[in-house]
Amino acid sequence: MDYSLPRRLRSLADEVREFVDEATVDTGRFDDSWVMARSREFDRRLAARGWLGMTWPREYGGGERSDLERFVVLETLLTAGAPVTGAWFPDRQIGPVLLQYGTEAQKQRWLPEISRGESAWCIGMSEPDAGSDVAHISTTARRDGDRYIVDGQKIWTSGAHEADWCYLICRTDPDAPAHKGLSELIVDMDSPGIEVRPIRDATGGRHFNEVFFSEVSVPVENLVGRPNHSFGQTMRQLEHERGGIDRLISNRRLHLDVNAVADSTDPLIRDEMAALETEYTIGRHMVLRNVTRQAPPGYSAVTKIFCTEHEQRVASFASRVLGPAALRGPDPVSLPGRVSLNTVFAPAYTIMGGTGLILRNIVGERVLGLPREPRPPR
Ligand SMILES: Cc1cc2nc3c(=O)[nH]c(=O)nc-3n(C[C@H](O)[C@H](O)[C@H](O)COP(=O)(O)OP(=O)(O)OC[C@H]3O[C@@H](n4cnc5c(N)ncnc54)[C@H](O)[C@@H]3O)c2cc1C
Repeated sequence: MDYSLPRRLRSLADEVREFVDEATVDTGRFDDSWVMARSREFDRRLAARGWLGMTWPREYGGGERSDLERFVVLETLLTAGAPVTGAWFPDRQIGPVLLQYGTEAQKQRWLPEISRGESAWCIGMSEPDAGSDVAHISTTARRDGDRYIVDGQKIWTSGAHEADWCYLICRTDPDAPAHKGLSELIVDMDSPGIEVRPIRDATGGRHFNEVFFSEVSVPVENLVGRPNHSFGQTMRQLEHERGGIDRLISNRRLHLDVNAVADSTDPLIRDEMAALETEYTIGRHMVLRNVTRQAPPGYSAVTKIFCTEHEQRVASFASRVLGPAALRGPDPVSLPGRVSLNTVFAPAYTIMGGTGLILRNIVGERVLGLPREPRPPR
């Protein structure tokens, strides 16, 4: 069977590689570049090539290109370590949700600026007492005339310190059962009453935050979808977050660089290199099933489990290849420093976007139809 992409897509990948060579001379290249590496200038350069909102309708600034073309562009950018954090969050999650659930005015308002690479977004979902258990979110939005008044706290909010907008999941009906009564609001991060406090992660980096909302006023026209009925919408958004190539290749650039110095004459190392490359190929095909819409419902959870556990095995392989050199401490430039950094960051792969255990529950209960484990009362 021939798994290679058609010639025109391979040419597109060449074009993206050339672009990245030029466009990252002043911005640099990074591992985990869709989580950690932000450059507004790079966002604009990407947009100028038409590589943001690629599949969206032209009337909203999109390019009406195919899902496979978008896949090729993203895979090539991330493999090269391009700093895409700012641009791809809204491209991956906000755009598709607005196209499906947004009003015409919301699409006109936000999609063109996302496809021009001019706005940065964060996702305000997790809270100190509601991470996996999204249904128990307690940040409230109380209707007051033509505004909502938001109070509460979010945590682990990636990029909130640089975001222009927050896509906020909040409780609009405190009396409804947990899964009902939730809504989604777009909140201007410059609004009075928002405080962003950075959290330092285990690598020493500061990419996520706590975000506090105190009587933050949000116009009702920023409500996306039906009030009190956003749970299904939020689950849909998580599907966009889970099934893409970004979940397979966060440390692909590091993997290739480590392969280049690994002693491939050692049979144990050879064996591991072959196993990881085989896994990578399988993961890529799983992603392609999602991208080409050939996957059954819930398959994005299966993809995320497999692909992120592969990323963790890559991190572990890299630290074994580098040996004691990787204990020198994290730095984003030298190979030992990058391996050290990745070793410390790797546990996050199976936490962010839904933990491996939660996703296994989803696969068991919703995909395979296994009996549900009774939940303890809260
Ligand atoms: C790098 C990074 C970036 C992130 N960025 C964002 C962001 O931008 N926006 C955002 O909203 N959130 C973000 N998160 C938060 C992330 O979504 C949550 O950490 C994740 O959903 C888990 O929630 P929690 O941390 O509250 O853990 P908990 O839900 O408290 O889980 C703790 C442990 O218990 C297990 N567990 C919980 N419930 C069950 C169950 N029913 N069955 C079996 N096991 C269970 C979990 O698997 C986990 O091992 C980010 C996290 C990381 C690491």
